[in-house]
Amino acid sequence: MIPNEIDIHKELKKYFGFDQFKGLQEQVITSILSKDNTFVIMPTGGGKSLCYQLPALVQNGTAIVVSPLIALMKNQVDAIRSLSSEEGIAHVLNSSLTKTEINKVKKDIVSGITKLLYVAPESLAKEEYVTFFKSVPVSFIAIDEAHCISEWGHDFRPEYRNLKNIIKHLGNIPVIGLTATATPKVQEDILKNLDMSDAVTYKASFNRPNLFYEVRPKTKNIESDIIRFIKQHKGKSGIIYCLSRKKVEEIAQVLQVNGISAVAYHAGLDAKTRAKHQDMFLMEDVDVVVATIAFGMGIDKPDVRFVIHHDIPKSLESYYQETGRAGRDGGEGHCLAYYSYKDVEKLEKFMSGKPVAEQEIGFALLQEVVAYAETSMSRRKFLLHYFGEEFDNETGDGGDMDDNVRNPKTKVEAKDNVVKVLEVVRATKHLYKSKEIVFTLMGKINAVIKAHKTDSLSLFGCGKDHDERYWMALIRQVLVDGLLTKDIETYGILKLSEKGANYIKNPTSFFMTEDHEYSEEEDEAIVT
Ligand code: ADP
Repeated sequence: MIPNEIDIHKELKKYFGFDQFKGLQEQVITSILSKDNTFVIMPTGGGKSLCYQLPALVQNGTAIVVSPLIALMKNQVDAIRSLSSEEGIAHVLNSSLTKTEINKVKKDIVSGITKLLYVAPESLAKEEYVTFFKSVPVSFIAIDEAHCISEWGHDFRPEYRNLKNIIKHLGNIPVIGLTATATPKVQEDILKNLDMSDAVTYKASFNRPNLFYEVRPKTKNIESDIIRFIKQHKGKSGIIYCLSRKKVEEIAQVLQVNGISAVAYHAGLDAKTRAKHQDMFLMEDVDVVVATIAFGMGIDKPDVRFVIHHDIPKSLESYYQETGRAGRDGGEGHCLAYYSYKDVEKLEKFMSGKPVAEQEIGFALLQEVVAYAETSMSRRKFLLHYFGEEFDNETGDGGDMDDNVRNPKTKVEAKDNVVKVLEVVRATKHLYKSKEIVFTLMGKINAVIKAHKTDSLSLFGCGKDHDERYWMALIRQVLVDGLLTKDIETYGILKLSEKGANYIKNPTSFFMTEDHEYSEEEDEAIVT
């Protein structure tokens, strides 16, 4: 229950000048004001900040906002200060402050002026601050970018793991977790590691109906293909992502000599050049920025009309984030990715130097990118399924906005083969990932199969009449359909779902499309 005296619509207008809440904001704010632990999952640009800023502004005490990046904290504080005549309304507390500055922050908190205090997780852990926070009224604790707590998120920060203990120490204060990462595994990690399994969860749809998704084979003609694409989008703003700085420089140059106004952006450029190139893009002095993933955090250019991935990204989360920078104004946004399996092998090689657990996670995430690229089913449906959301292309917004839906491959009846897949998963007792399931179907032996004596099963080799690519494609579609589930904890072991068990008893028509086959003509270094 919200305290009676608070009219959140009035406060929305008063502080932010907006007439209406966006998406789930009103429900989230009501939940926070009712002092419930709350978990908010909204895509970037969904309006997460306001969800905790408004309740902080209208309540007694100070809300502590944990945020991973000093630059982001500064932006947020400036934004809040511009809403009020009171400078002390928001502060940052981190290691860059002087003793005098810290005292000023504390004084403002004690006198009740400060409504929002942004802290880095490592600062929150300091004994001195913990003691201080226990002595002042704290309205709630918001954990921004909460996916940093999970090794399955794209930005794991070990300091986030400590938050649970600090929060406990501070007493019975409501906790709000916020993230734009929507995979079920990351969500589960967040709730577990923040000890907030009782939290009320609000999840917005991740569907971006105005974005068009396309994957093209990466061949040696990629540069001319990109140039042609950009010329078809003449005068429009776009971003090209590459995995290496060297490739960024190369592509930017190729575009420039071909009469396209483009600049490079990567962490190897000095801060001044980076800022200049970013401004040129924002001010539309150039059309295209060629960048590594260093570019984009906090960029809010509404009319980016295309995002091209010259190299495949490391995970579908990154892909979603990066493509999400297109079409923020609701207008056209073309998301084009170039794919070659060689790039995957290079990324795997690159990861092989990392600690084993990190490698396993990296490989599993990469396999999902491969599946996305090779699939012939709707890319939107595939992406949204990855984020735990069901999508119906017939009725859903943007249902025809991808290459596979626009140019469908012929579908074939696969009912009997679906049953074979499900039976093999069941007969092998939920021990195998896709690879071993396909081996079993095809009657191929490897050490794992031998060890489990799978080759003595009557089903062994029951799918010899099709090749590996066919079975992989079918398994992906069966997964999206929910007949099988993939256990992330074990990096991809397949399990039969209840729906799958019912399907074996009562099979119905199942139309599948075979995966794309991409040629692999090219050989170039992407990771340097
Ligand atoms: P996120 O943190 O989820 O990426 P932001 O909090 O940065 O999103 O909000 C994205 C944009 O939406 C901002 O420009 C913000 O001013 C705007 N916004 C937020 N809430 C509303 C609202 N109720 N009405 C209109 N615009 C809003």
